[in-house]
Amino acid sequence: MEYDVVIGLEVHAELKTNTKCFCSCKNESGVEPNTNCCPVCIGLPGALPVLNKKAVEQTIRAGLALGFDINRTAVFERKNYFYPDLAKAYQISQLVKPICIKGHLRVGEKDIPIDRIHLEEDAGKLVHSNDGNTLIDYNRGGVPLIELVTDALQEPHIETADEAIEFLEKLRQIYIYAGVADCLIEKGQMRADVNVSLKPKGSPIYGTKVEMKNIMGFKSVYRAIQYEIERQKDILDDGGKVEQETRKWDDDKGINFTLRTKENSQDYRYFPDPDLLAVNISEAEIDKIKSTMPRLPDELKKIYTEEYGLSEYDADVLLQFKHVSDYYNECVELYRQPKTVCNWITTEIMARIKTETGAGPILIDKTDLVWLMKNVDDKKINRLSAKDVLSKIWGTQLHAEQEAKRLNLIIDIDNNALDNIIKNVVDNNATVVQQYLTENDPKILNYLVGQVMKETKGKANAGDVMAKIKEIVNK
Ligand code: ADP
Ligand code: MG
Ligand code: ZN
Repeated sequence: MEYDVVIGLEVHAELKTNTKCFCSCKNESGVEPNTNCCPVCIGLPGALPVLNKKAVEQTIRAGLALGFDINRTAVFERKNYFYPDLAKAYQISQLVKPICIKGHLRVGEKDIPIDRIHLEEDAGKLVHSNDGNTLIDYNRGGVPLIELVTDALQEPHIETADEAIEFLEKLRQIYIYAGVADCLIEKGQMRADVNVSLKPKGSPIYGTKVEMKNIMGFKSVYRAIQYEIERQKDILDDGGKVEQETRKWDDDKGINFTLRTKENSQDYRYFPDPDLLAVNISEAEIDKIKSTMPRLPDELKKIYTEEYGLSEYDADVLLQFKHVSDYYNECVELYRQPKTVCNWITTEIMARIKTETGAGPILIDKTDLVWLMKNVDDKKINRLSAKDVLSKIWGTQLHAEQEAKRLNLIIDIDNNALDNIIKNVVDNNATVVQQYLTENDPKILNYLVGQVMKETKGKANAGDVMAKIKEIVNK
């Protein structure tokens, strides 16, 4: 039988803020376990939460970047459950009145509807050690987290693993560009729950969904979805029924297994947190955040392709990493040759920073790169020499102009001197010239150009030299 696949995503991202969501502990990762903790974020009884204004602003910013409406009144609720990484036995979250409602994100030709983004606190982290013990690090407890939930019950929805990945990648890019989250996948700063159901092709009745929680990494999300679609197909083809449940994806084994039959929101006994006031969000505040919204990938892509004339492909390469497109923008400010700048960055710079998982820092000052590009264009330095200089100064304190001068690479030969050299080369190679005139072989011409370049120690422009030689010998 043929089926329609329906996929819903719940995506968590840790917000970029200085401090945690409800206390003044630092929001930072990679430090000694249990050092960024206080009575509030480890959940001691009687400790009182104080809402971090910046976390609310960041949530609004995320929402605006995705076209959400912002609720004028948002409410924090307690989501009650026990787990060792959540000592107070409830998570402060939002259910009925989240900060952002009804947004969307474009995936291919589809505008995927998104139900909500709410703000909540992260839990601590369990660390299972090799000797069979489990340790708890509460540093992550209380870190502000936004959860975005797509609306799979509306058209159009995500239907394939490829679309799910495109959604996640685009979302990640928007969060990074908007400055709301770093979304470092390997640090668990962005995590997805995946909901999958199947229904007979064309049927308006949705099938039973299965949820796979907390999948790390987009590749795993992709594999988990593919696996679950096949698993449900097999069940339905055999005339069976899909159980509503939460399953755990095991990335090493490439399978999933039952974790628990599905809980629903009633099980959490949500209720408004009496320790926190409702949050009132004014029009003025929203406007202020709007006015400081950085340029987002779609907007930049439009400028790159329509205004700057770059290809879609080149624009995508530049936009893949925010620090690369920032650098590109800064270079174009200094040197308004968007295509030239793009060529240098997508080749020379990208080759030097690409790593397996992303891109490292750009280790050449924009003014130095601009100097090189400009002087190549002005024929003051040869392209190859410029690339040499780039290699020499990359990652050092050296500057392009000084280095080019030190290496004697600047083309400062005057036209008369160059004319003389060319004339001499032509005179001294009469037989070669004769051969060129009869055979018209570009290789022979290149040989003559090479001779001139040798005489000038590379300080002439090869294209100009070639043109001049042609002019002389054809006279
Ligand atoms: P829960 O309370 O079980 O987490 P939600 O209603 O919050 O369920 O939905 C979680 C996600 O699953 C949302 O993205 C939602 O759109 C999606 N979803 C709901 N029903 C289905 C379904 N039948 N098939 C696929 N996804 C679904
Ligand atoms: Mg859920
Ligand atoms: Zn704290």
